[in-house]
Amino acid sequence: MRSAIALILLMSASVAVLGPASAQRAPTTGSASAAATPPAATPAPAPSAIPGPSAAVTPPKCTNPNALGVSRTVEIDTAGGPGFGGEHFKQHDFLRNKEVVLTFDDGPWPTTTAVLKALADECVRATFFPIGKHATYYPEILKAMHEAGHTIGSHTWSHKNLESIKDPAEAKAEIEKGISAVSMSAGVPIAPFFRFPALRHPPALVTYVGERNLGIFSTDMDSFDFKMRKPEQVVNAVMTKLKKFGKGIVLMHDFQTATSQAVPDLLAQLKAEGYKIVHMRARDPVKPLAEYDEMVKKEQKLPTVSTRPTSSVIRTVE
Ligand SMILES: [Zn+2]
Repeated sequence: MRSAIALILLMSASVAVLGPASAQRAPTTGSASAAATPPAATPAPAPSAIPGPSAAVTPPKCTNPNALGVSRTVEIDTAGGPGFGGEHFKQHDFLRNKEVVLTFDDGPWPTTTAVLKALADECVRATFFPIGKHATYYPEILKAMHEAGHTIGSHTWSHKNLESIKDPAEAKAEIEKGISAVSMSAGVPIAPFFRFPALRHPPALVTYVGERNLGIFSTDMDSFDFKMRKPEQVVNAVMTKLKKFGKGIVLMHDFQTATSQAVPDLLAQLKAEGYKIVHMRARDPVKPLAEYDEMVKKEQKLPTVSTRPTSSVIRTVE
C-alpha cells in the first residue's frame, strides 16, 4: 500500500516535470487540442537570441527650427494586450483634441525611404507596422527606420487575413514569424505593437495576442490610401477625417507610392492647421520566440553568416 502511494506520488511528480517540457516540444496543431489546453498551462516560451540595445533609441537632433516636431511622447505598457484605435477598441483613448499619431503599414519597401525623409525633415516620429517578409527583403530600410527614432511594431509574416486561416497553429505562426522576421531584420528588439492585417480581429487570436502581451493597434481613421493614385487624394482623405474627428491615430501605408509622395504635404497641412504629433513608444520590447526565428531563417534559403547589406557587397562599376 505504502509503495503504491509512493509510486503514484513518483508518477505525478514526473508528469509535473515532463508536462511543460513536452508541451513545449509539441506546439498546438489543431483546434481540438487548442480547446483542450488551458492557456495558463502554456510554458514560458524560449526567448530568441537577438542581440541589441533597448527598443528605445535617442532620436537624431532636430535641425529644422520650424519643424512640426513631436509635441508629446507616450509610453505604452502592453501587458494583457490592450487595444487602441476607436474603429475597434474604445477603452484607451489617450489623445487630446488636435493630437495625431501617424502609423504606416506594409513596408519596408523602397517607397518607405521617401516617407522616412519627409518625417526626418519635419522631426516627426511615427509608428510602423512592417510585414515580416518585406522586412527580410529590405533590412537596411528597417535599420534606418529604427535609427531615426521611429517605433517599429509588426503586421504578420505575409499579410494573410487571419480570419481566413483555419489552422490555429498556422495563424499563430503568421503572427510570430512576423515578430521574428522584423526583429531579426531590424537587428534590435522591436515594440510589442501589433496590427492585424486588414483590421480583421478573430477573437481567438485577440486572446492569443493578449496572452503574448502585445498591444493591438486598430485605427481611429483609415485613410484608404491603397485605393488612391495621387498624393493629394491621400492628403485630402486624412485632413478631411481629422477635421471631422478632431484627433486620432491615422492609418496609412508606406508601401504605397502615392502615400510616400504625400507625406511632405500632409505634414505641412497638419502644421498649418495646428495639429500636434504624438509619438508612441513601448515600455518593453517584445521577445521573439526562438522556434519561429528558426522558421524565418529556413524561409530565407541558404542563409550565410554575413549580415552585410547588399549595397556594400555589390556596386555598379560601369
Ligand atoms: Zn496591412
